[in-house]
Amino acid sequence: MSLIESWVESANRPDTDFPLNNLALGVFTTGPEDVPRCGVAIGDMILDVARLEEAGILRPGGDEPVLGLPFWNAFMELGPAAWLAFREALTELLRKGAQDRARVEPALVPMARAVLHMPFAVAEFTDFYAGRHHAFNVGTMFRGPENALPPNWLHIPIGYNGRASSVVVSGTDFRRPWGQIKGPEFESPILAPSRRFDFELEMGAIVGQPSRFGHPVTVAEADEMIFGYVILNDWSARDIQAWEYQPLGPFQAKATATTVSPWIVMKAALEPFRAPTPPREKPLLPYLEEPGPMLYDIALEVALRPEGGEESVITRTNYREMYYSSAQQLAHHTLSGCPMNIGDLLGSGTISGPTRESRGSMLELSWGGKEPLALPGGISRTFLEDNDEVIMRGAAIGDGYRIGFGACRGRVLPALPEAEILKQGA
Ligand code: MN
Repeated sequence: MSLIESWVESANRPDTDFPLNNLALGVFTTGPEDVPRCGVAIGDMILDVARLEEAGILRPGGDEPVLGLPFWNAFMELGPAAWLAFREALTELLRKGAQDRARVEPALVPMARAVLHMPFAVAEFTDFYAGRHHAFNVGTMFRGPENALPPNWLHIPIGYNGRASSVVVSGTDFRRPWGQIKGPEFESPILAPSRRFDFELEMGAIVGQPSRFGHPVTVAEADEMIFGYVILNDWSARDIQAWEYQPLGPFQAKATATTVSPWIVMKAALEPFRAPTPPREKPLLPYLEEPGPMLYDIALEVALRPEGGEESVITRTNYREMYYSSAQQLAHHTLSGCPMNIGDLLGSGTISGPTRESRGSMLELSWGGKEPLALPGGISRTFLEDNDEVIMRGAAIGDGYRIGFGACRGRVLPALPEAEILKQGA
């Protein structure tokens, strides 16, 4: 696969996240009075597809308008054939030498002038624990290398039901959470701001077609149901988690915020980059076997920027390091008969590689806080400090082009003052 050239010149640059091959989907406004609507990234521009739908140039939903809305869910509902037809129509409109250029050009908006919003309405959020290296590292820290992987890990994509209400778009800052914390030095828990606040580098799969109540789906069907992917930061309060997580799993530790990249990359754009899961260490039950490669070769990196300081990359890894694919996770999710809905978001689990430089969380990078990470300017970190900004980026790298997601940013502001937390007792 090579670059499809566009008359939008910035889309032909090898360093753009948004060549014509990508056609990533977002929701944008260009001013405070503006109504959020669907847009498609092309080079350093956004194509206002809501405007093209109004003008009758694009009509993915027939008579039903689906693009003048602050989410892509109505478009997802149209199904995989409509998704592909839409990509083909856009490719024809934006291709170098396209007949319709004069009609389309007025609908281009500079990305630098736009504010990006949540690109879809999150129905429910489930987060998994499907990275072999991450699970091994965390298990080694807590239980030693012999017992690092729980006995179920090589058989089940382990997950928990998270919160959709705190999924936010890149650029949304939030406060460090307060919580119950019980260190080994205390007999009882204390109420305090988290001291071991962390990021988790993940991919998020967006479910674009529903499954029926009572009807499990196969891995192949699950793959068909996936609409696209975002980069996802599953912020985690390690100290709150350590005290609360047994026996029902994470609760408040993961509820503060989950940040997603502003652009959804449709599955079709990632097709040339499919990659197999690593060899199975234990055979899987047949319902989890993959009919083909279900992961993607997506290079990922995380940068950290301390307040007033410079940004530096602290880890580099790849989505193909996962042990379970999103399609396997989705199939497993329906095994009980649990129906899945349009807009459901599945976090992959932290994506760590095999080396120290490819670990996908501060917990692993600083080895539980024991090995501080050195940053430029003589700064060091074990976990995130107040006003630290975490920036995640990723792209599938093609021949002379890349399929990117835009940056996934978030900043941890200082915790609420104690008086705010204790006011109930006043
Ligand atoms: Mn996670």
